[in-house]
Amino acid sequence: MMSEVSAAAAVPAPLVAALAASGRRAVRLVLFDIDGTLIRTGGVGVLAFARALTSTFGRPDVTDRIRFGGRTDPSLVRELFGHAGVDPTPENLSRFLDAYVFWLDHLLTESRNGGPCPGVQMFLEQLRQLPQPPTVGLLTGNIRLGAEIKLRHYGLWDAFEMGAFADDDADRNRLAGIARDRGSALCGRELTGDEILVVGDTPLDIECGRAIGARVLAVATGGARTEVLREHRPDWLLPTLEEANAEALCAGAAVV
Ligand SMILES: [Mg+2]
Repeated sequence: MMSEVSAAAAVPAPLVAALAASGRRAVRLVLFDIDGTLIRTGGVGVLAFARALTSTFGRPDVTDRIRFGGRTDPSLVRELFGHAGVDPTPENLSRFLDAYVFWLDHLLTESRNGGPCPGVQMFLEQLRQLPQPPTVGLLTGNIRLGAEIKLRHYGLWDAFEMGAFADDDADRNRLAGIARDRGSALCGRELTGDEILVVGDTPLDIECGRAIGARVLAVATGGARTEVLREHRPDWLLPTLEEANAEALCAGAAVV
């Protein structure tokens, strides 16, 4: 299937030349959100939250009262504790997250639903095939172990060289700064915002990309509808990553 990858990645030479002349910087770091951007778990992520609450604290499932998209795990747990009447102590948070990763692993193994979002493997391959491949990392509200369990399950974990996770900071916008700094360290110099591309599926992903001055590609493969994403003015908006052209995006093209 390599010919398909090459064909999709092709950018007309005049476009590349025009970009070079415009002085735009090429993207050196691409940061991906996970849920709804790289993968869909078919409801298993939310179910693992519900099971963790029930098995650890004996409380009924109240996950239907929570909006999950784009948020960090600790902020979701605190809200869940509020609805369920669990004291949000550090010890309870830690007990919950231990149970959560257990259930996540177990339920993913049992589930036949979910999988990578359309175009993900092809887009990652396009990035690797670029003449100067950017560093590829994660910028996610998942805790690190939860991210690893999910991405390993779908064979994607090894595609990423670095990441910023909810264990690093519960605030999504500060997480973006941590991801930028780690990516900069791997690149050997401080990256500017326009050298970073954030890929996500919710308005919160667009916002956290903006927090570090990054370019943002929004994809409508998660919970947020195209019209809603458009209101938040990402640099690019695509139905899925199948329509993405890595070479044009990393060159900073106005149209992809
Ligand atoms: Mg998401």
